[in-house]
Amino acid sequence: MQPLGAVEQHGPHLPFNTDLLIAERVATAAVERVGGELEVWLLPPLAYTKSNEHAWSSGTIWLSATTLLAVLDDIGRCVAMTPARKLVFMNGHGGNSALVGVANREIRLHHGLMTFLAHPGVPPDQGGHSPAAELGMGIHGGTEETSLMLHLAPELVDMSVATRNVPESLGANRYVRFGGTVGFGWLSDDFGPEGHIGDPTTATAELGATLFDAAVEAFCGALGEIARFDLPIAP
Ligand SMILES: [Zn+2]
Repeated sequence: MQPLGAVEQHGPHLPFNTDLLIAERVATAAVERVGGELEVWLLPPLAYTKSNEHAWSSGTIWLSATTLLAVLDDIGRCVAMTPARKLVFMNGHGGNSALVGVANREIRLHHGLMTFLAHPGVPPDQGGHSPAAELGMGIHGGTEETSLMLHLAPELVDMSVATRNVPESLGANRYVRFGGTVGFGWLSDDFGPEGHIGDPTTATAELGATLFDAAVEAFCGALGEIARFDLPIAP
């Protein structure tokens, strides 16, 4: 299993390694719980990934889409040299998801592995949950991600500079919105200079603990299904 993080701006209140830390902690906790029984091998996390929606911010360190696709394919090639027949990506950064979906098929085709994409929580712009107060658009540094960080690494969070930044105008749209049926290209500074999108002011460590436990529980269940998963060959 390969955790995927990011090193990217997360607004003024969260550290650059937010996605990396969350993905690594969920992956580690799940492997501690079910890794022995299911024979899961935990690879070191990949810190730098496709964060170019935050390219405007100094401190963001990102790989281009073509670079990350090549890196993931190389990882697949190397894993295919081992006895493992499956490769699971635990992805903490929503900006990677579409590309990892592409990589899953490339690796399947090139190296014969069965490939999977999981998240600590499905990003709200990909159909995941976000509190109603964020109009369903807490996609980056909002209530839930900030809560997770208050639970996992409170010393890295500065709530004194946390501000609500919800794109209210998009909330009125039925189709063209985060999580809507019509997607759109965006950069995080399209929504203001602070770069986060959501409402971190309502975050709590208690909510973070609940979300973390649920993420680990769900990922353990997913790993169980992945262990049993096979691709039926048509007769
Ligand atoms: Zn994040």
